[in-house]
Amino acid sequence: MRIGIVCSGGDAPGMNAAIKKFVEISYQLGYEPYFIYDGYEGMIDGHIKKANYSDISGIIHRGGTIIRSSRSKRFFEYKYRKQAYENLKKEKIEHIIVLGGDGSFRGLDVLSKEFDLSFIGIPSTIDNDIPFSDYSIGVDTALNVIRDCIDNIRDTASSFKRAFVIETMGRECGYLAAVSAIANGAEICMIPEINFDWEKVKKRLIKEFENGRNYLIAVVAEGCKSTWKMAKWIEENFNIETRISVLGHIQRGGKPTVRERLIAGEFVCVALNNLDEKNKVVVKQGDKYSFVDIQTLVSSSYKLDKKIIEMLNFLD
Ligand code: ADP
Repeated sequence: MRIGIVCSGGDAPGMNAAIKKFVEISYQLGYEPYFIYDGYEGMIDGHIKKANYSDISGIIHRGGTIIRSSRSKRFFEYKYRKQAYENLKKEKIEHIIVLGGDGSFRGLDVLSKEFDLSFIGIPSTIDNDIPFSDYSIGVDTALNVIRDCIDNIRDTASSFKRAFVIETMGRECGYLAAVSAIANGAEICMIPEINFDWEKVKKRLIKEFENGRNYLIAVVAEGCKSTWKMAKWIEENFNIETRISVLGHIQRGGKPTVRERLIAGEFVCVALNNLDEKNKVVVKQGDKYSFVDIQTLVSSSYKLDKKIIEMLNFLD
């Protein structure tokens, strides 16, 4: 039986660890593994090739994805989705494993309503915004990259008595900003999920500056679209020179952490051992993996863990 794997949307560190495990376990289970290159674009254009052990040697430590990914405008059109489906049929691929984010799963939902498809999705996005799943492949590495960046910025902030406003990725989801603010001991955290109380934060910080604070770290999620506003506010209210650092795509790359590699492998094992869970997404809650129907998943929205929100309370 032939099984394909495709990466779609934003790349995430750990995808290569998942790809390696996919090939190894497929052969162990007696399946024929296939790579679908270049995301949905490659599915449309038939960039499909049988995967061998030689393809997966020396990849586990690399960020990105060796089978590449894409954002595909054409996939929004029925005729191209049909072409993609026909390519899978032509290659006799019976199941596909899709490493992607929210957008990629929406695409799959549409495709599976039109054609007799069998796929399993694996949450793979540094944004960590997939409903029902605590974890998406890429998150741990992104958090560790951000940790290093903020640690480095802190050296300058403390030496120069400066404020730094650091913008993290995550689209509409504040997960990366929230966890980084906690882990890096930021003084300010702004995320889309929580209403930012400017007055309350101002009162707290005035006291801190009176008590000898001489630098400041603020972490702002990109989804707030308030990075510049925050910098201006800090400068005006606390009379401290303020710089902005937009971390950008640095957060998407890098060597996957140990945790990342292990979890990526687990996701793939769960998917390959449960191929009859047709058109579902594997989700991780605590240590447990389970499956959520694609329609339920795409009609739900991600909610930031209450425990994380509670941990941010000290920044009020
Ligand atoms: P991610 O999976 O990382 O969230 P995107 O949001 O860019 O990335 O989605 C990846 C791709 O999924 C898109 O480029 C598009 O090809 C496909 N896709 C997303 N939404 C739909 C949709 N409603 N219909 C068809 N294809 C879609």
